[in-house]
Amino acid sequence: MAKQKKYIFVTGGVLSSIGKGIAAASIGMLLEQRGIKVTMAKMDPYLNVDPGTMSPFQHGEVFVLDDGAETDLDLGHYSRFVQNAEFTRKNSFTTGRIYDTVIRRERAGGYLGKTVQVIPHITDEIKRHIDEAAGEADLAIIEVGGTVGDIESLPFLEAIRQIRADKGAENVLYVHLTLVPYIAAAGELKTKPTQHSVKELREIGIQPDILLCRSDRKLPKDVKEKIGLFCNVPGDQVFSAIDVSSIYEVPTYFAEEKLDEKIVERLGIWTSSPDLSKWSAMVEKIRKPKGEVTIGVVGKYTDWRDSYKSLSEALIHGGVANDVKVNMLYVDSEEIEKGTNLDLLRSVDGVLVPGGFGERGIEGKIKAAEFARTENVPYFGICLGMQLAVVEFARNRCELKEANSAEFRPEGRESVIHMMEAQKSVTEKGGTMRLGAYPCQVLSKFGGHATKAYTAYKKEQISERHRHRFEVNNQYRSVLEERGLLVSGKYQDRNTGTELVEIVELPGHPWYLGCQFHPEFLSKPLSPHPLFVGFIKAAKECGKGGQPGLKGIG
Ligand code: GLN
Repeated sequence: MAKQKKYIFVTGGVLSSIGKGIAAASIGMLLEQRGIKVTMAKMDPYLNVDPGTMSPFQHGEVFVLDDGAETDLDLGHYSRFVQNAEFTRKNSFTTGRIYDTVIRRERAGGYLGKTVQVIPHITDEIKRHIDEAAGEADLAIIEVGGTVGDIESLPFLEAIRQIRADKGAENVLYVHLTLVPYIAAAGELKTKPTQHSVKELREIGIQPDILLCRSDRKLPKDVKEKIGLFCNVPGDQVFSAIDVSSIYEVPTYFAEEKLDEKIVERLGIWTSSPDLSKWSAMVEKIRKPKGEVTIGVVGKYTDWRDSYKSLSEALIHGGVANDVKVNMLYVDSEEIEKGTNLDLLRSVDGVLVPGGFGERGIEGKIKAAEFARTENVPYFGICLGMQLAVVEFARNRCELKEANSAEFRPEGRESVIHMMEAQKSVTEKGGTMRLGAYPCQVLSKFGGHATKAYTAYKKEQISERHRHRFEVNNQYRSVLEERGLLVSGKYQDRNTGTELVEIVELPGHPWYLGCQFHPEFLSKPLSPHPLFVGFIKAAKECGKGGQPGLKGIG
């Protein structure tokens, strides 16, 4: 008989932002390390069909998958914690997508004669999406976005309630993450918010099996028992989820608490203990770095770190590979524009200009690229950061004084960055950029030396994820190259033969590289992305704390 597929549903109570995504990802990591074929999915209760059109201010970063899906940032956590699962657009869906599917089917006559309703039509569609997300995996961990008690989450909760009866109680486990605050005035851990949140779940028919209690300290046995009693959960199924200094410590902490052991026991899965040796060694490197570097991240969303989530994680991974702690100094590009904080950049070991949209702060980012180029400070430009490095180089090295990106000067005369051909006829905003994985050919040598790109990747064929509308204008390629900007990575369209610039670098500079794609989406703590490894290595070697900077032509 085929193995019975198992499901774990992760819900959250009391507050948002208590780490549901990381908790779910950590469970996924531990179960995968036990040898189980795991997949994960996120269901989001908002009406956008996907988060692609949402401001990262509001909902954090948009995480892009190989297939071009624009997904919730939790997919980023899943990708970093779970090694073998391949995530596609099936692994992230929203209320908007569910309704869109149901309404299209209704218009096509798919429900002829019926009144289309939340129960059963929306809930059935949610269950179909869950089945699709689970795919071929033996165990699917499905996270419900939002907080129990939100009106929006109700259809998702109703669907997962039904699934226990559909799939058999022994195959479904409900994990609920709540908050147990320590109230200093009373000197006590307070269990009431947890009791209320579980009460709310039980009112809609879901009895959680496992409670993960986020708190700033370990829950003593009597507190666990009290929670268990009020929430109808055995005391040994109540776990603490304490604050840890690095998110990568969460799985090792859960393993110490034997959370994964309890989960497999409850689901009747027979496995060996998880092999955490590599993971623990990585965590040890984060805990005890041998040195540190500071990277100036120049952006406009300076106060909202979640919009650069994958980026900050990829920098940490690059640090792990180089045995250093990476400090991120967020530098507001609008302040650089005003001339108030270019000095801040003098204190950093590397400058990074990440991806972005819109005109605000653009000139400040261009100044940051110029500073890094002329002062021989390692520079990493990602997507917009690469485009602006090209603009800067065109203005200051190619006498193209009006050089700009057509994104900011649509009528400009010297658009060294222009809109991609395929984008010109596009009128819809959602899901219409150049999205997802495209192959890129890396140039191995230039002038007798290995290129920086090849030194990092050590291969000529790579695949990277994209999310952009604009690109380097090929009309300007020859002048840029004549003046010393090397195109060390390109994409060639098989049908039309057109080339797109994917990577640029400066041969004489210690490390100056820009890429049109987003390498941060592929970086994992156990396999740090080669460009981040290369950038941090350069920052370590050339930076203030390391060897004196190499001299380059700039
Ligand atoms: N705004 C630029 C473009 O659309 C860069 C996009 C990005 O950085 N992701 O091409």
